[in-house]
Amino acid sequence: MQEFDLVVIGSGPGGYVGAIRAAQLGLKTAVVEKSKTLGGTCLNVGCIPSKALLESSEHYEFLKKEVNQHGISVKKPSLHLDTMMKRKQSIVSDLTRGIEFLFKKNKITRLEGFGKLKSNTEVEVTSGKKTEIVKAKYIVLSTGSLPIELPFAKWNQKTIVSSTEALSFDKVPKKLIVIGGGYIGLELGSVWGRLGSEVTVIEYASSICPGMDKDVREQLFKILGKQGINFKLESKVIKVESKKDSADVTFTNTKGKTETLNGDKVLVCVGRKPFTENLGLENLNIQTNSKGQIEVNIHFQTSQKNIFAIGDVIRGAMLAHKAEEEGVAVAEFIVKGFGHVNYETVPSVIYTWPEVASVGQTEETLKQENTPYNVGTFPFLANGRARALGSTEGFVKILAHKKSDKILGVHIIGARAGDLISEAVVAMEFEGNSEDLARSFHAHPTLSEALREAALGVHKRTRQM
Ligand code: FAD
Repeated sequence: MQEFDLVVIGSGPGGYVGAIRAAQLGLKTAVVEKSKTLGGTCLNVGCIPSKALLESSEHYEFLKKEVNQHGISVKKPSLHLDTMMKRKQSIVSDLTRGIEFLFKKNKITRLEGFGKLKSNTEVEVTSGKKTEIVKAKYIVLSTGSLPIELPFAKWNQKTIVSSTEALSFDKVPKKLIVIGGGYIGLELGSVWGRLGSEVTVIEYASSICPGMDKDVREQLFKILGKQGINFKLESKVIKVESKKDSADVTFTNTKGKTETLNGDKVLVCVGRKPFTENLGLENLNIQTNSKGQIEVNIHFQTSQKNIFAIGDVIRGAMLAHKAEEEGVAVAEFIVKGFGHVNYETVPSVIYTWPEVASVGQTEETLKQENTPYNVGTFPFLANGRARALGSTEGFVKILAHKKSDKILGVHIIGARAGDLISEAVVAMEFEGNSEDLARSFHAHPTLSEALREAALGVHKRTRQM
């Protein structure tokens, strides 16, 4: 029987990053993965393929609508979807193979098959008819999540689909209906909208992305509307009926009005649920909560102290970088006795155009908590680089404590907001003040100057145009 210090079940961002850290710290480590490729949802059917398609469709949109402004004319651009999909797939393949390389480099054993807990020190790995039991001092469960299926809209992979199929349509749907106005629905809606679909997003809540800072989500709503995405807010889908080559979606609004829309594809994006099926949790009395998440303590330990759980399968934001940090924290806890994740500074990004990025508290949560705060904002319209880029929509908003000036939250909607937010994350990690940002050099002309100006704005010192 093979014996390891650590066996990780699941090779997504939580599992593979945690395994690499564990190996770096000297643990004899193995990773069990049921899929043929490593990297989990993120690399195979999540973050990476969606960003590849967002990037390609942005170029297409640019050529169709904006390139002329630069004094460049091109003949009507034509779309070769199969090439776009091949490019996406080759990015995915390169990255998943990159993890194989990292496993070899760090001497991590890859165990191909489905992992199940046999005891608190044994994992059964099944691949086809072959079953092997491996021994481990420590086990990490990083089995991730799956999209939630609506009981009245069962996926058929043809007309009613999940995000996985929406990353690989073989032709551009004429009409795409997206159920759910969260970030995955908006990103994939943007992709297909740019490629020519008529997109309608149906959302149960009164706004898209309800947890986001109000000013930002309202701006995003307006911008996406201008880009041609139709929204049906406060609308509850009650029926989805698949036809031969399309599906009817029936929904009611708050006034009781019922409407039916037909789309050749219906993308159901109403959230994701933890995946723990057949993991053998019950054998060891490992608890899950009402959302199906594995219960862990602050050290990510389950009720079995040598078995840990991280990433989408536990509480908190379902984000790749959150899973990664938890993986690192577990490895460090096992070897060094401490490992920490600062949940106050987990950024979240929506990769629409413009992007949206935020970290920390929103103005609404500060109000609810009666925290005194100052606000500084700065529009990209007044940023020289944004003008040169031709992307002047959006703004930066910084929330700082009224007395201490400590940065409490930063919200950006604008070009490359996802990259810009890192500066705010670092500042908050160091418990920085808005003045620290305002007094730090920012190269000119860069988009990051908008952050500096917003920080100056906290003390009414913005040099706005
Ligand atoms: P996963 O990545 O889900 O990996 C779990 C792995 O465990 C899988 O490979 C699975 O096959 C394997 N597994 C499960 N059970 C077993 C078992 N019993 N035995 C063996 N193997 C098993 N997040 C971001 O931060 N940024 C983004 O831009 C972003 N975009 C996204 C876009 C889409 C369309 C989707 C669907 C998700 C996106 N996410 C994004 C979310 C992100 O993908 C997840 O938060 C992240 O992958 C979670 O990592 P994880 O390691 O917890 O689990």
